[in-house]
Amino acid sequence: MDPLAHKLAAEVGRSRLVVALRTVLQDVRTQALDGTLDAGALDDVVLLGQAQRFLHAQDQPCQRAVFNLTGTVLHTNLGRALLPEQAVQAVVQALSVPTNLEYDIKTGRRGDRDDLVEGLLCELTGAEAATVVNNNAAAVLLMLNALANRREVVVSRGELVEIGGSFRIPDVMKGAGARLVEVGTTNRTHPADYENAIGARTAMLMKVHCSNYHVTGFTSEVSVAQMADIAHRHGVPASVDLGSGTLVDLTQWGLPREQTVSDVIAAGSDLATFSGDKLLGGPQAGVIVGRSDLIKKIKKSPLKRALRVGKLTLAALESVLALYRSPELLPERLITLRLLTRPESDIQQQALRLRDDVQDAVGGSYTVQVCAMLSQIGSGALPVEQLPSFGLVMRYAGPGRPGRALHKLEKQWRELPRAVIGRIRHDAFWLDMRCLAITEEAEFVQQLQGLSA
Ligand SMILES: *Cc1c(COP(=O)(O)O)cnc(C)c1O
Repeated sequence: MDPLAHKLAAEVGRSRLVVALRTVLQDVRTQALDGTLDAGALDDVVLLGQAQRFLHAQDQPCQRAVFNLTGTVLHTNLGRALLPEQAVQAVVQALSVPTNLEYDIKTGRRGDRDDLVEGLLCELTGAEAATVVNNNAAAVLLMLNALANRREVVVSRGELVEIGGSFRIPDVMKGAGARLVEVGTTNRTHPADYENAIGARTAMLMKVHCSNYHVTGFTSEVSVAQMADIAHRHGVPASVDLGSGTLVDLTQWGLPREQTVSDVIAAGSDLATFSGDKLLGGPQAGVIVGRSDLIKKIKKSPLKRALRVGKLTLAALESVLALYRSPELLPERLITLRLLTRPESDIQQQALRLRDDVQDAVGGSYTVQVCAMLSQIGSGALPVEQLPSFGLVMRYAGPGRPGRALHKLEKQWRELPRAVIGRIRHDAFWLDMRCLAITEEAEFVQQLQGLSA
């Protein structure tokens, strides 16, 4: 047998090698019938080489590392928050050894998986109780189904948001079996609007964070405290879907103000729902915190069992939440916050360092400049706020219109071994350097040669 055949059989096993060779031979047959077969194509070494490439391509994982240079820090399509090293280690441990996921070590009895993070969540939000599900969409669905099935939920017209990817508040209500009662207008909602909508079938008053838009001008909004007060006077609970779920005041790091979970709990909201992988900086998860009698009811719902999280999520979430006990150390430890607070000068220096290498790689048809630009937080967190950043801007310098050349350039960056994702804007290709870690710079530069190839 050919030495390459031996090597491949040892690597992938005989049967898989046979499948690969059959696939290659099928191609050869097709070419022979088309009359396009090259004489050398039937050589053993050539056929084995093709099988090797086929196997290699098959072994590329579908989910792989990319560089997020889009300027959107919490990019939903690129996996949102990145986990700190401790959280990654916690996940690895939960994967590799048995854990007390649902086991109370003190009593030796069955435990509840929510207990692993409930204490921390209550400590950090001031809530009485907490439960965790797969994502925030699931949290909202579960909360509405458990507490408002076949009853009414009052929401302001100005807050009927659609988050990307088919999450629309009116549709989630319907899916949960709750009837939406819209009050107010798009730009103005008053306390009396809520008050007048309450009737015998009202299950809850609800506010929703306007994650991806902003209403300005002649506007009026009912505060959480006002809504909670109205709800309580009528004996129904108030809840807030916060979307991003910030646990600390971000203004201490020069970031825009965002209502925290403790703010809405302190303002009297009976429940709050939020994501684990947006501003919180943890794993994909949806958290419901609030009054213990309501959380108890929610946990009894069969939907809760269907939407529960696994041990990996809980391990990561516990580890990330624990970082919030030392708030002043968060910008060092929590990757999301580190990226959001990265000094502009630091990003500029990095862009300056990389400019020449990138110019060499893209060649003379493009000019590469270091430019100031604006990053976005992303994932519906603080939609109108932008963060001053720096990056590389590539403009087509050749003849003709730039459109096609830029799309070709964008594709070349995407086809590198570790795809580089940027954006085309104002007739140029933009790479925002905010999310390129210094430790990844060498890898970024090393693969640049692939651009000219
Ligand atoms: C993002 C968001 C959701 C959905 O959260 P996921 O964790 O992506 O499921 C729901 N409501 C609001 C207000 C949001 O911003």
